[in-house]
Amino acid sequence: MELLKIDLNCIKNTYKKRPCDSNKGTHGHALLIAGSSNKMGAAIIASKACLRSGVGLLTVAFYPENKSVLFNSIPEAMYANSCVMNDLSPYQAIGIGPGIGVDEISLQYIYQLYENKLPVVFDADALNLIANYKIDWNNFNFPFVLTPHPKEFDRLFGEHDSESERRSIAIQKAAALNCVIVLKGHKTFITDGIHTFENTTGNSGLAKGGSGDALTGMITSFLAQGYTTLEATKLGVYLHGLAADITLETQSEESMLITDVIENIGLAFK
Ligand code: AMP
Ligand code: MG
Repeated sequence: MELLKIDLNCIKNTYKKRPCDSNKGTHGHALLIAGSSNKMGAAIIASKACLRSGVGLLTVAFYPENKSVLFNSIPEAMYANSCVMNDLSPYQAIGIGPGIGVDEISLQYIYQLYENKLPVVFDADALNLIANYKIDWNNFNFPFVLTPHPKEFDRLFGEHDSESERRSIAIQKAAALNCVIVLKGHKTFITDGIHTFENTTGNSGLAKGGSGDALTGMITSFLAQGYTTLEATKLGVYLHGLAADITLETQSEESMLITDVIENIGLAFK
């Protein structure tokens, strides 16, 4: 299978220019299920990155209720209590996982998705919940993207010794589960089981807590805007890495914060 590079040329063929007569409804409403009492930073990071990637509306769902944390840092977002979230009809895409924890309460969020038809990004603790509770993939009858780092990948699909082993299992699993798998790291690998891609942007300044949460927000944003799972994933991974590369103009790989990277998503688009 040919390994295609995700470079500027690839992204120019994927990106659709925003029509000048659009309104917020045109660009979709994303739902991010993220954060919990000790991990609200993950929700804030994912939300900011989601909003910086072009979504029309964003609702963030978390528990326990502490709306002020959200509103103080992101006035553009709306809030929903994740425990009473049974109507998904307002949304076009869902991102779930950053900072949600792996307890019984967060497990309920996964169950709530069983009847859903919207595209979903599963990341972080959502992946750990699927692994810990051996959730049956047959419950997911909707388009979905998995964004594991190597440890999360191994929790889901068994221990592997090398990146190349993980890549070949990712291809098999993506084909069997009919999903897109993003194997994160240096030169992030993406597959839908039919095609394989390798990202060309990003640097070790991203090797810090919170980086993956921003990526989840970005991919969810592109899904809500109507991009396919494969398109949204390619755009998210490439622009996330490019924003980090642009951040090297003012920060070092050591000093870079994911909030700096999020501030540069705009320059990455340009
Ligand atoms: P997570 O481990 O979930 O926080 O995700 C880390 C994010 O940072 C992923 O998008 C990785 O691809 C990216 N990343 C981590 N380390 C590197 C690196 N050395 N070079 C490029 N990207 C990286
Ligand atoms: Mg992560």
